[in-house]
Amino acid sequence: MSRLSSLVSLYPGFNPSIFTLEGTNTYIIGTGQKKILIDTGEGIPAWIENLSRNIARNELQCILITHSHPDHIGGINDAFNYFGRVPVYKRVMDNEEDREINEKFQNQIYSLSDNEIIRTEGVTLQAVFTPGHKNDHVCYFLQEENAVFTGDLIMGRGSTILDVYYDYMNSLYRVQNIAPRILYTGHGETNIFAAEKITENIEHRNQRERQVFNALDSQKTTEEIVATVYGQLDEKVRSSAIFNTNQYLQALKIKNLVEYSESELKWKRAE
Ligand SMILES: [Zn+2]
Repeated sequence: MSRLSSLVSLYPGFNPSIFTLEGTNTYIIGTGQKKILIDTGEGIPAWIENLSRNIARNELQCILITHSHPDHIGGINDAFNYFGRVPVYKRVMDNEEDREINEKFQNQIYSLSDNEIIRTEGVTLQAVFTPGHKNDHVCYFLQEENAVFTGDLIMGRGSTILDVYYDYMNSLYRVQNIAPRILYTGHGETNIFAAEKITENIEHRNQRERQVFNALDSQKTTEEIVATVYGQLDEKVRSSAIFNTNQYLQALKIKNLVEYSESELKWKRAE
């Protein structure tokens, strides 16, 4: 546990990997009788053991989830076992995946609406819907500190995996408009230069999008574009590079800047 401010403490998920960096960051917010937990890690026993050493059983008001990837929701049942069945709030999607999640977590999953306020003593959190990394992704704006819990929208370092690039960029612009001072990230370190960090993420994507466009000096397959843009890649990150490149290509296609030939399986710049 590390105390990051008078209101916020970090509880690491104990699940380090190439994708999760040191592991998933989970946060306890509030200093009063009832606290709020953001995310639950992957379900590693050390996570709940650490929480139980610092927070009493009756001290948790609710759990907020940034998005339903396994490394963020995997510890919910462990939290129930210790804290009891507190309500768990997320953006609930009307699909099979979210119905299964609700069943898996004892029908304790409740839906948030965009901009909804969640309060506890000394704490005002606002749900900010930010799809793109995953369709149900929510950031939480902590008004008292002008801070945003970014989930996987913005990592402490490196860049996140995309689901829908177009949505992702709109979500980054949305958080940029909040103009937070601090970013409490879902992975990696807290960032106290929030404006620079958000700009860096936006610029990184814009630059990649330009590189993908520039790579099309001649007709190319997606694989050929990946090779031009990223060079030699470790097999572990190669598939996400291909996926991301496809996302940039789709965005460029929406803007009528590139075309895809179904017959040749190749991309080219639009005429
Ligand atoms: Zn994720």
